[in-house]
Amino acid sequence: MAWVSWDKMTKSKQDGGLGFRDFESFNDAYLAKLGWRIHNNPSGLLSRVLTGKYCTDTPFLQVAHRSAESHGWRGVLIGRDLMMSNAGWALGNGESINIWSDPWLSHSEQARPMGPAPEQFIHWTVKKLMLPNGTDWNREIIQQVFPHEEARILSLKPSKTDVADKLIWLGTTSGEYTTKSGYLKALELNDTNPIPPTTVEVDWKKGIWNLQTAPKIKLFLWKIFKGALPVGEALAVRNIGSAQTCALCDSNESINHLFLHCDFAYNVWRLAPFSTCIDARGLLDLSTAWLGLCKLTCLPPVGISLGPLAPWILWALWLARNDRIFNNRGTTPEEVITKATAAAHEWL
Ligand SMILES: [Zn+2]
Repeated sequence: MAWVSWDKMTKSKQDGGLGFRDFESFNDAYLAKLGWRIHNNPSGLLSRVLTGKYCTDTPFLQVAHRSAESHGWRGVLIGRDLMMSNAGWALGNGESINIWSDPWLSHSEQARPMGPAPEQFIHWTVKKLMLPNGTDWNREIIQQVFPHEEARILSLKPSKTDVADKLIWLGTTSGEYTTKSGYLKALELNDTNPIPPTTVEVDWKKGIWNLQTAPKIKLFLWKIFKGALPVGEALAVRNIGSAQTCALCDSNESINHLFLHCDFAYNVWRLAPFSTCIDARGLLDLSTAWLGLCKLTCLPPVGISLGPLAPWILWALWLARNDRIFNNRGTTPEEVITKATAAAHEWL
């Protein structure tokens, strides 16, 4: 069906033959077209069949990847993720836009507030930043929630007529998705990001909110799993800054690298006073391993008897990373573990 246009788009490459990247990118771009159609035509047959089966609890744009899902549905979600990687929100009544996780601050690039997101505002929609009449901003609230973004927010105009928020594709001037522009975006992503992003989403209740740990640590975990922690890779995706590599080893600074796979993180986990030794480099990714890490019990006397230590280890790793980058101060793995256990004890 859609393969007809594939020829045209990749004609220039035909001499050298088509690589797997081209094929993969075109396939993703076509799947994103499906995603665009499902989102924009929710009453169509395709949308009703698919969302009726797979999105009963969660809206299509938010539904998570599951480890066991059908091949076809997995493809639809890959397309949706490509679509969302280059989409933004045009403000209407603000009811469909989450103030933290959705890109809504610009119509030319993906821009969302950087946080930190205080827990009481995490689920807020943009509508909550407006006056009760819904047609103007509530400046007092905006100053309270994101003082740094006030000017940018005030430059956006809420709808006077209560129209719904609209998803716009940033790859075309019309804001409509096209397979061609999707293909170009997919090529770019598949080139810079050959490893697919985390495919399993962490159980937010068990893995974050219900943990026996400090509120600030829960918030920190939420940012990690929401992709809102400003690590090099996340900043590069948002085109902010150029520091994409780990300050210690020049690898791509991703969440998994920083917290598990870097030599430094590996040594920290190895030193942790758990009853079993942890080989963090052997763990596939943080989301998949997270619940298991939280279940690890600690050895006396340093071990803590109440609440998991793993969240504090992530937190101490993050502080050590920031100290390294912003204060040019090195930390040893031993110091990180000491800091994590001390902070956990102190909280208890
Ligand atoms: Zn590293």
